[in-house]
Amino acid sequence: MKVNKLVVLGGGVLGSQIAYQSAYSGIPTVIYDISDDAVDAVKLRVATFTAQYKHDLKASDEALTAADSRLTYTSDLTKAALNADVIIEAVPERPAIKEDVYTKLKPLITPDTLLLTNSSTLLPSDLIQFAPNAQRFLAMHFANQIWIHNVAEIMWAQGTPDKAIDDAVDVAKQLHMIPIKIQKEVSGYVMNSIFLPMIYAALFLWADGNSDPHSIDKDWMVSMSVDRGPFGFLDLMGLRTAVNIAKGYYQQTNDERYQRVADKLENEYVSHNKLGAETGEGFYTY
Ligand code: NAD
Repeated sequence: MKVNKLVVLGGGVLGSQIAYQSAYSGIPTVIYDISDDAVDAVKLRVATFTAQYKHDLKASDEALTAADSRLTYTSDLTKAALNADVIIEAVPERPAIKEDVYTKLKPLITPDTLLLTNSSTLLPSDLIQFAPNAQRFLAMHFANQIWIHNVAEIMWAQGTPDKAIDDAVDVAKQLHMIPIKIQKEVSGYVMNSIFLPMIYAALFLWADGNSDPHSIDKDWMVSMSVDRGPFGFLDLMGLRTAVNIAKGYYQQTNDERYQRVADKLENEYVSHNKLGAETGEGFYTY
């Protein structure tokens, strides 16, 4: 399918990146957010991308100006959704908010509009009951800093038509993403299914006193020939997020190691505002 209008719902950390990448890829793009104040915050976020695209992609001034000219902002959902070919939902990870937005979308979209959720933890089959059109609903999960980490993980509920899956792959390619199809739903898609168990295995080694963060990283980096270890990744991901995920896992599994990790991270780092790279200090200093 050719995308002539792409709409992003929620211009937060990820939504703003998806929208900018779409505009940079030549697609007329609209970002919808909840209020005029929220829209102002989205504009500030988007303004930071120019320098990053220049640095990371060697983007030209002309290409960046053209991207800006393709991007519009609104807090009016009716206006945003009008004649949209593709809508990418990147509102907060709370089912009630997603349900509310999908319900409001229902009367506004065409029968062909493809709705893609960027949800990190909810499965398409958790959300499809709220989708305005179950035949045209899938998950497309992007990684943070999508212009360099350009993978789009595509996942769908059982019974989703092949046409919708093919269209999602097409959309990913038009956004210059590498599409990765996930044949059967799994929480965490591919990347986080591998990445998060590795990260928490490293945190358990630390919390249980088996080794210290820098030694664990060094072992992993040298053994695997990679330039960042689990604690280096934790600093990038943010230690507050690491605490939240650990608490969630504890609730799901009752495995007390997650609670120990959450408490240790909270007491030794988060409560001292050592949140990782964003505050200049975590397991490393920046
Ligand atoms: P965020 O909190 O940074 O942004 C959410 C945005 O949605 C904000 O701009 C907020 O104003 C807006 N919003 C709130 N309620 C809304 C509503 N009813 N309608 C429209 N907009 C509304 O969140 P985020 O980190 O960008 O995450 C958004 C989604 O993307 C989540 O589902 C998350 O799981 C997923 N995701 C996040 C990351 C990440 O690294 N942050 C990575 C992949 C996927």
